[in-house]
Amino acid sequence: AMAALPYKRVLVKLSGEALMGTEPFGIDRATVRRIAEDVIAAVKLGVEVAVVVGGGNIFRGSQIAGMGLSRPAADSMGMLATVMNVIALEAQFTSLGQPARAMSGVAMPSVVETYTRQQGMEHLSKDRVVLLAGGTGNPFFTTDTGAALRAAELECDVLMKATQVDGIYTADPKKDPTATRFDRISHDEVIRRDLKVMDTAAFALAREASLPIIVFSIHQAGSIASVLRGEASCTLVTA
Ligand code: UDP
Repeated sequence: AMAALPYKRVLVKLSGEALMGTEPFGIDRATVRRIAEDVIAAVKLGVEVAVVVGGGNIFRGSQIAGMGLSRPAADSMGMLATVMNVIALEAQFTSLGQPARAMSGVAMPSVVETYTRQQGMEHLSKDRVVLLAGGTGNPFFTTDTGAALRAAELECDVLMKATQVDGIYTADPKKDPTATRFDRISHDEVIRRDLKVMDTAAFALAREASLPIIVFSIHQAGSIASVLRGEASCTLVTA
């Protein structure tokens, strides 16, 4: 028999860049397929999966605001970028035979379902992958904050933050060869050591909700499932 997994429902945060593959911009089809297959492998372990997708591969509000474009207007454009990403992911899941529903915190009913907690919970309980666009649905926030918010309200056991490296290090491992990875660390210690895990608003929300966070690398195929099985190196942030 398979050992019981510690998590029943997880939320995976994917940055927009994770969908670019080696391209400088936009959506790389092969990468989208590989990530969808990774999520499906996690579903096959018996875990319910929600995914919050960023939009930085297409558009970031903070980079374009100014010169007559207000920050809220620019952020609306950023949120629309995340909708493009979930449309691509939803199509990929569907073509792989995995039921999935894209939902957006910014209402766009002729394109994707409008996010409600009730519908999100319903989809998850029916083993549909829930693909969440629009972040929090408000300007001045990030999709990391959207991920912490949705993970808390959808009663996810953990927020799995996909990054370029396999966890939280004492320093940037790409710059400092002596940096070491934490296997486990508390929310308080992340703040005390000023480690960059997510932006401050996102991290504060996770801490307030006592939401555990796993930081892991999305580069290896199958990484989501191997993290869930306890086989991949990662960092667990927990109270
Ligand atoms: N955004 C927003 N509110 C949110 C989430 C995102 O206004 O709750 C906008 C913001 O302009 C942001 C863009 O959407 O720059 C893309 O999101 P993010 O930068 O978090 O994407 P990622 O870095 O994860 O790819």
